[in-house]
This record gives sequence, structure tokens and C-alpha cells, in this order.
Amino acid sequence: MAGPVVKAPPLRPFPSIPALQPDAMAASKPYIATDKIQEPLGFPGQLVENWEQRAIGRMGELLKRYRSLKVYLESCVHCGACTDKCHYFLGTGDPKNMPVARQELMRSVYRRYFTLPGKLFPKLVGARDMTKDVLDEWWSYYNQCSECRRCSVFCPYGIDTAEITMAGREIMDSVGVGQKYANEIIGKVHRIGNNLGLPGPALEDTLAGLEEDVKEETGADVRYPMDEKGAEVLLITPSADFFAEPHVDSLIGYGKVFHAAGISWTLSSYASEAANFGMFIGNYEQMRKIALRIRDAALELGVKRIIVGECGHAWRAAYSFWNTLSGIGAGGDDPFAKQLQNQLDLRYPQPQHICEFTWDLIQRGALTLDKEANDHRIVTFHDSCNVARASRMGTRAGGQFDIPRAIIRAVANNYVDMDEGTIREKTFCCGGGGGLLTDDLMEIRVKGALPRMEALQRVVDSSKVNFMATICAICKAQFTKVLPYYGFKMSMVGGVHQLVSTAIRLGPKQ
Ligand code: SF4
Ligand code: SF4
Repeated sequence: MAGPVVKAPPLRPFPSIPALQPDAMAASKPYIATDKIQEPLGFPGQLVENWEQRAIGRMGELLKRYRSLKVYLESCVHCGACTDKCHYFLGTGDPKNMPVARQELMRSVYRRYFTLPGKLFPKLVGARDMTKDVLDEWWSYYNQCSECRRCSVFCPYGIDTAEITMAGREIMDSVGVGQKYANEIIGKVHRIGNNLGLPGPALEDTLAGLEEDVKEETGADVRYPMDEKGAEVLLITPSADFFAEPHVDSLIGYGKVFHAAGISWTLSSYASEAANFGMFIGNYEQMRKIALRIRDAALELGVKRIIVGECGHAWRAAYSFWNTLSGIGAGGDDPFAKQLQNQLDLRYPQPQHICEFTWDLIQRGALTLDKEANDHRIVTFHDSCNVARASRMGTRAGGQFDIPRAIIRAVANNYVDMDEGTIREKTFCCGGGGGLLTDDLMEIRVKGALPRMEALQRVVDSSKVNFMATICAICKAQFTKVLPYYGFKMSMVGGVHQLVSTAIRLGPKQ
């Protein structure tokens, strides 16, 4: 079914703050998950009776469980520093897309039920009852936040709107209002092992095809193995890498790097997904269940190392949460976590990002690289939010910014950064993160991409950039879709390991 026609806003001189357009995006809402999607995840199939009390009850549980949520709801001083920092506000002008206003949607309800002034004098302190109108507003605007955390970089108190959005979605799921796109995907991972719902045989077919293609291209017998017991490395990568363009070009690149390094590796048909949408809906139990598939696969295959492919939020989940969720990294203390601790080779980071792995090999001179092979490209790099603001790479501060750039510079001669205010920790979201990468949210996706498109246009104009590299499956999918809205070619976006793949030399044929 064709969706509504979406018109991209015009690119503006950068940076510029839009004129306010109250409620411009009030009608933007994702499809609601059906009972068939909700119930297998343990959520009510539809809006429950007494949902108001249940929503407040769930909020109370989250406030006890996450002290950060309480601190964030209590500590805003309305200084306004975050107001113009959200790409969705910059792209739409809707004041409810200002981070402080997005927070206020929940803070006003928090005040009413969890503070004395709010209980006694609600109107005086801007406290609101939990009504259907409030729930509708939450549904719109907590699905217009990609949980990118850019606003928190500028907040003097470090208030993280993403955590408030996650709590909002968690509360809505608990009363039966779940997002179709995200929850359907979580169900597929539980049932099949990956977001795309691709069964093992389909994955194996693809991998066999890749082996043939790479043999044809390079003359080398590069393997793309699956479920191989005793391999040194288990690679956990987004399932989009198996099929989607340009994602698959990075998967080809990973295989070439493992081949060149002479390190045995395998993918897993059981844990064939790096993404973890449990994080997007703020649900710890879903997140843990998804992460445990990876632990199970690692134990079953007997691997010594776990490496994560190009996926932004997956790296956040792996870097920040896998240890306590599953025992990959120190932290988990159940018997299986301990078994895994004993199995993994602790001389290496566990888990390790594929960029850390490749950069280490480059530094040791273990790869033969022909930079000229990328001379047709003038490259820039889009930092992905969850890598930039919620994780690290390497042993030095800022490694998550420097290592991908160092790899690009090692494999390509032409590299240009975008405007300083739009990269590294200040990077702008692609517009499709946080569970918004669905066609029913196309308008907010296109408009939310505006700040990144403006920054891209500047380096296209000044330096003739024709390739934007990124290390996130969602960014790749989002940009492929929205670049044409702004007059760019969709093939302009690709992975860092796509560039590595072009430059790496493997066999005598080359
Ligand atoms: S999308 Fe990002 S910048 Fe906007 S409110 Fe959410 S976390 Fe903040
Ligand atoms: S920057 Fe922080 S304290 Fe200031 S208005 Fe935004 S959330 Fe509140």
C-alpha cells in the first residue's frame, strides 16, 4: 500500500533554527501492534481496562528500578540548552519535538502522581492526570524520538531524554499499546533468530553465493562460514548484512579481513542478529532474552572471541549491556555466564567491534591495502549515535570516533569530515534510529534527516564528497531511503568495511 507523499524540507544555511509550528507532527503515529504480536512478548494484546492505574503503577516500578529516571524527571531547570538540539525539532519545527518538551510529556504526569505539590495543587505546578489525550500525545511524540542522546550532550545536567522515551514506550507496552514495527521484529528474533525472519537455509544460500562472488572477484577462497564449531571467532552482525544493499558489501569485507588475517570465524544461524530492539522499547526482559541467544550460540560453538559487525545500537547493547545481560564480558554471575567467561580468551576485548579488530590488523601490518582502489571515492564519515554517545572503542577516549576514521584513511586517499558541530559526540541522527525505521513513520524520518543532509550538502559543495561511510545497519537503510528525497543518490552511503573490501588485496589474481 502506498504511503502518504512526503516532501523533504528545503536545505537551509547551516545552522538555523526553524519557525515554530505547534502540533505540526501530532498526527505522526506508528501502527499499533496487534494482539498476535503483543501477547507472545508477554504484553497485553490491546489497551487494558483500568489502563490509567496500570500505567501509573508501571511508572512507579520503573522509578524504583531505574534511579536515573527519577533523577532525570526531577532535575530539569528549564534552561533551554537542549531546545534546538534535536534533529526532529530542527526538521519539523514542532515544539513538542524539543527534548525538554518531550520530557515534559512524562514529567507532568510524574509530578501529578509522585510529588506532593502535584498531588495537592496540580494546576499550579503543571501536573497532569494520565488521560487518553496524554496517552495519545505519548504515542505520537515518544515515537518521534530516536533515542539518539544528542540532547543530553548539551544538557548541563546530563538529562538523557532517550531514557525517558524508553520508559514511555515501556509503560505503553505494559498497558497494551505497542509499536507494530519494533515488537514484530522482537518476535521474529525470538522465533527465528533475526530481525528479517530469515531461516538458516536462506542464510547459508546467501553465504555460499558470496563465496562464489568473492572467488570470481579476487581469485581467493574466502569463506563465509556458518555454525562451524571450534572456530576462533563468532561474528554477530545485523541480519541486513546478509541481504540488503549496501550492507552486504561490509559482510564481504569482514570475510576478506578474516581471510587475510588467517583467523577462523563463523556466523551463527541461531544468533543471526546483532540488533537488539528490546533496547528501543526500553524492556530489559526482551533485551536480555535476545542477548542470551548470543551466549547460547557462543557456548554451543565453543568460540574464543566474539566480534560485532557494523551496527550502532547493537554495539551499544554489546559494549554496555552484554556483560550483565549474558556474561559476555565481566559481570554476569550465573553458571552459564561463568562457563562463558572461562571459555572466552580474555587477552582480547570481549566483545570486540569489527573496527577495533580490523584497525589492530592494519596497525600490525597484517593487511595488504591498495588505497588507490578507492580513488573514485571522496569519503566522509557519519558517526552513528549509539556508537558515538553510548559506547567506546579501543583503549583511548574518543576511540569510537578515531578508529573508524583511521581505517578509512588507511584504505582511501580522499577523506573529508563534515561540519564539526555535526560529527563525533555532536553527530546528528540519521533520522531512522530508535525503532523508527518503518514506512508508517516516513514523514518524521525524512524531516529528521534534514540536519545531516544539510551538513552533507556542504561537503558535497566544498569537496565533492560522493561517499558517506557509516558503521550502522539502520543508518545505511535510512540513508538509502531518504538520500533521494534531498537530491542525493542512494548509493552514496556505504559501510567502512565496504571501503576495506575495495582496498584489501588477497590473491595472485589481483
Ligand atoms: S531524538 Fe535524540 S535529540 Fe531528540 S529528544 Fe530524542 S534523544 Fe534527544
Ligand atoms: S538542557 Fe537539560 S536542564 Fe536545560 S531544559 Fe534541557 S533537559 Fe532541562
